[in-house]
Amino acid sequence: MDTLSKVSVSSVYVHAPFCSRRCFYCDFAVEVNSSGDLGAWTEALSGELRAVEREGVFVISEALKTLYVGGGTPSLLGSEAMKSLAEVIGRNRLEDPELEWTAEANPESVTHDLVEGWRKAGVNRMSLGVQSFDAQVLTWMGRLHGPDGAVRAVKAIKEAGVHNLSVDLIFGLPSRLNRCWRTDLYKVLELDVPHINLYGLSIESDTPLGRSVRDGSEVPVNEGQYRDEYLAAVELLGNAGYQHYEVSSFSQPGFSSRHNSVYWDGRPYLGLGNAAHSYSDSYRRWNVRDWLSYSALATETGVTWEKGEHLDVASRSLERLWLGLRTVFGLPIRDLDDPQRLIIESWAREGWSVLEDERVRLTAEGWLVLDRLTLELDNARAG
Ligand code: SF4
Repeated sequence: MDTLSKVSVSSVYVHAPFCSRRCFYCDFAVEVNSSGDLGAWTEALSGELRAVEREGVFVISEALKTLYVGGGTPSLLGSEAMKSLAEVIGRNRLEDPELEWTAEANPESVTHDLVEGWRKAGVNRMSLGVQSFDAQVLTWMGRLHGPDGAVRAVKAIKEAGVHNLSVDLIFGLPSRLNRCWRTDLYKVLELDVPHINLYGLSIESDTPLGRSVRDGSEVPVNEGQYRDEYLAAVELLGNAGYQHYEVSSFSQPGFSSRHNSVYWDGRPYLGLGNAAHSYSDSYRRWNVRDWLSYSALATETGVTWEKGEHLDVASRSLERLWLGLRTVFGLPIRDLDDPQRLIIESWAREGWSVLEDERVRLTAEGWLVLDRLTLELDNARAG
């Protein structure tokens, strides 16, 4: 195996795997549990972190710039969870005044006390899994909150003093649900949150939804409706003053996600927790996915990663194209060779891209076919 070089990381992702039940479409690394197990979680993270420090490949900066706690449902871990996490990571590492500390929550487990506890621990950004405001849709998804849950949770979050807040919605649902997408968009605008993420429903084979599609009891949305919903959202949120700065991300000025931009810029990060990924330039590795296996390893040896890979030149180049095209910053033209520039010109004629300030960036129409365009550009590379 190639020798691993040391890398300093100032961004950390922490996975909190617990969910009260599994949503119909979800294939995330989730441990179904009526409540989170805070003691086991912090014990496992401490074990993993000690092993990471002993190994010395990912060297955690003395002053983290971003910390992201995702799930699962981190809010299931309760109001003391972020304080306990700060003790695991080290208070001294969380004192940079510029630190962006995001924690995800689901509406049903958001209370004023929870947010206040998290804010006092240092959380200054929250991401709320709303997905829809339609009662029938929420039931179909298997979500635990009702149509008013998001409104109540956003109010609690703001009143407890966290104003940097993102809300997730899912579009592209089966048309038999008769979900009115525009109504959900108007409702999310009424929440007046500075950041919104929109995700197209992804049908993963090893989920109840995937099985229902296979046996014909669910029919995926057609391409036209998927496209119409995405473009309607782009127009509506744009008119409301949100900048569409990445395929799925919309923000009011000054509220883009700094943690996610670490991924898109290809900067190094450390992932802690089951299924978490870590990355540095040409090396990527990921932890054991199953929570019980992960926590056993974390408390025994601390070595929790399952697999690692060194990215060759071709994979790195493909990844750079894909990540670059995801965001509004696009790619510098000078990095493209002549055959690739011809491709870019053809995209502009189709309305998929624009050239500005010596960079190419995709339009919303282009983002709908991001994967295909990335491959096309990669295949066109000379030599
Ligand atoms: S709340 Fe999120 S992580 Fe948990 S089961 Fe539902 S989709 Fe999956």
